[in-house]
Amino acid sequence: MDAIPVDPAPVDPARIANYHMHVYYDPNDAGGRARAAQLRSWVEQRFPVRMGRWHDVPVGPHPTAMYQILFSVEVFPTLVPFVMMNRQGLTILLHPESGRPRDDHTLNASWMGAVLPLNTAILPEADQAGG
Ligand code: ZN
Repeated sequence: MDAIPVDPAPVDPARIANYHMHVYYDPNDAGGRARAAQLRSWVEQRFPVRMGRWHDVPVGPHPTAMYQILFSVEVFPTLVPFVMMNRQGLTILLHPESGRPRDDHTLNASWMGAVLPLNTAILPEADQAGG
């Protein structure tokens, strides 16, 4: 990553339209996939989210298999602690959607578990695509 300049002013979090979590798993590890399925079903039963489909091969900037959970600002205070307490060792990327895809996946991202190397070069600086 390039050197990060000192910001003259904070970014207003009101720019965040919604959030993604990306739940990573090893498609060749049945146990890991089972834990990802368990978490998926627990979240679906409890929260108003838009659940993405299973991607058993890398897609977009993501280095390994994952599925996406898309959720609103209102759901954050209950969903994020639930996932923190129930991720069962899975690696999860939590990032805002603020109209700046590259920053949202790097400077603005939070990781649970490990930090995986994303292919951020394919992400636009300003919005259209997401990821
Ligand atoms: Zn995303």
